[in-house]
Amino acid sequence: MANYTIFGGGPAGLYTAWRLLTDPTKLTSADTVRIYEWGNYDYENNGDGDRTPAGRICSYHFNKNREQSYIEVGGMRFIEWDKEKYTGHQLVSLTIDKVLLNNKPLSDNIIEFNTTDNPLFYLRGKHFYSQNLGKNINGEIVLAPYNTPGNNAKPADALISNISNLITKGNNVTSRSEQCSFYQSGTLNTDFNSKSYVYNAGDIIGNIGYWNMFYDQAGNEGFQYAADAGGYSSNVINWNSANAAVYNGEFAPGGAFKTLSSGYSSLFVALYQECIKAAQNKGITFELTKKVRLHSIWHDNKQTPTTRYTTSNRSNPDQALDGNIGTDYAFLAMSPNALELVARATRYNKMKDGQTDILNKDNVQNYIQSVIEQPSYKVAMFFKTEWWKADGVKYKPDLINKKNNNINVFGPTITDLPLRQVYYFGDNSTGDIDDNDKVYGILASYDDMRFTQFWEELELSTKTRRTTPLSRNYQPLEGAGKAPDEMMRMLKLQLAKVHYDDANAAGLIPDPEETVFMNWGLNPFGAGYHAWAAHYDICDVMQQIRTPGKMAGINDANIFIVGSAYSNDQAWVEGAFCTVESVLIDYLGMKTIAQNTTDYPLICGCK
Ligand SMILES: Cc1cc2nc3c(=O)[nH]c(=O)nc-3n(C[C@H](O)[C@H](O)[C@H](O)COP(=O)(O)OP(=O)(O)OC[C@H]3O[C@@H](n4cnc5c(N)ncnc54)[C@H](O)[C@@H]3O)c2cc1C
Repeated sequence: MANYTIFGGGPAGLYTAWRLLTDPTKLTSADTVRIYEWGNYDYENNGDGDRTPAGRICSYHFNKNREQSYIEVGGMRFIEWDKEKYTGHQLVSLTIDKVLLNNKPLSDNIIEFNTTDNPLFYLRGKHFYSQNLGKNINGEIVLAPYNTPGNNAKPADALISNISNLITKGNNVTSRSEQCSFYQSGTLNTDFNSKSYVYNAGDIIGNIGYWNMFYDQAGNEGFQYAADAGGYSSNVINWNSANAAVYNGEFAPGGAFKTLSSGYSSLFVALYQECIKAAQNKGITFELTKKVRLHSIWHDNKQTPTTRYTTSNRSNPDQALDGNIGTDYAFLAMSPNALELVARATRYNKMKDGQTDILNKDNVQNYIQSVIEQPSYKVAMFFKTEWWKADGVKYKPDLINKKNNNINVFGPTITDLPLRQVYYFGDNSTGDIDDNDKVYGILASYDDMRFTQFWEELELSTKTRRTTPLSRNYQPLEGAGKAPDEMMRMLKLQLAKVHYDDANAAGLIPDPEETVFMNWGLNPFGAGYHAWAAHYDICDVMQQIRTPGKMAGINDANIFIVGSAYSNDQAWVEGAFCTVESVLIDYLGMKTIAQNTTDYPLICGCK
């Protein structure tokens, strides 16, 4: 008889519960699986909750009406697993297959999420379409407005790819296993002796910042072009060059982007339903408690079980409830910021004889801080018309994707204005909506890093003083926030610049029916996604961080850290699933459901 306690009911937490409950041999009716989730997500899809599940996935439907059009205000797509090439998201694809097979209502719901072959750019005050770069249009060669000769006649992807090739040259980085060795021990090739003022052949690539390297090889204008035109500022921060070179290169997982037609959240509704079914079939106690947070956690060798914790309520998350609860297995299925909040609370508990504050040990803290937090922000707008396609719009998005027959092409349009990226979702309602009630959505701003602050100050109207400190503003837990008119007008002002080349045309854009925002930099998430920092052996962190107890010298501590932050796919649900799967296989002796872990290691193995 054992109890398994999962803290965090996001993708990693739900996947943990589902795998434990559905494994044919692991659990029996004497066992218990519990999830504690800080938020109040509508796992049952019956309106009982503040927002759709789960964690950093959140499909927002117009007016919170599930029948209506939606925008993904969190994660939005996955990469279909290619069984021949071993690329794409193996566990997400597999889970969707298994969950869909059991869940008939979802069965036809995998749809394309295509990106355009010809994005519209508005950078440094100039409009251009990607496919026109380097071509003579009306007597003028179209160049991106950056002083980086040669590079500016091509999409920035070409420059980013060149930098990846420079960094990885001489190293094998095609398969996932090769990439793992490269993160651990990849070195710069001999070209660097003649082509770099700063770096030398033989330097360990994982100890170099990517921005540092980009500046060294492409100068400031090259870097700025890559940063602005890439859309995601997160991809060019000063992260681990080895990981960045692979992630930003052509070695990144290929394959087609897919999503679910009723929204990515529906996968987590289905996973929850599958947990309940499996628990009922086997007579296992399964409980998901919402609005309860793990407050602090420690090891106590004088008690059984040795893993001890306290919780707190959503209404007063800093105040531990009385109690000192034990569990046989604890899964911390949360982001590094959320982990740090637990560590901070635990730090103030005076440890007694026999007790160890695992999360605050120096080496554990060092590895918890081995990833850079990347705040991200999304604003969704719903309109009565698809005004961006109307006559009179000077620069329309060119929503084409030849390979995929131009089906479901969402964008993006990319700009250096704080909007950064625009995606055009249109009418994607799955319910029976009257023509008069139809709405058309755009992800009007998808931005990250420093740009998130631009929108944060617009969350409050000019009439309002801040009354909730940012550290206690749990907006992403509570669900998409209603944008004040000032934010709505600021969005229209920038959309007018991007699509009409005229801020004064803001009045031509109709007022939206609804505008909502999601600020993923706030607690408890602290970031939309994460990137490995330089000067860390990524392989070693991935391996060790899973068992912080062992790092603290307590070999039998069954405390596991899982989630996408310390994975090979840090900006993806796949990363969350892979870290869980690796723990279940390596520490709980379960058999994997993955089809191939040789060419596709769940996490990096270390030599
Ligand atoms: C804007 C954006 C775009 C993205 N795009 C994509 C995409 O297209 N495709 C994709 O696959 N992924 C995407 N991602 C990433 C994806 O959402 C994450 O990788 C994934 O959600 C990570 O899952 P997780 O379980 O590790 O963590 P989380 O999703 O953060 O879940 C952790 C859960 O733990 C809860 N929690 C925190 N602290 C506590 C505590 N002390 N006690 C109890 N519960 C707690 C939180 O409330 C949360 O529900 C995107 C993310 C963002 C924000």
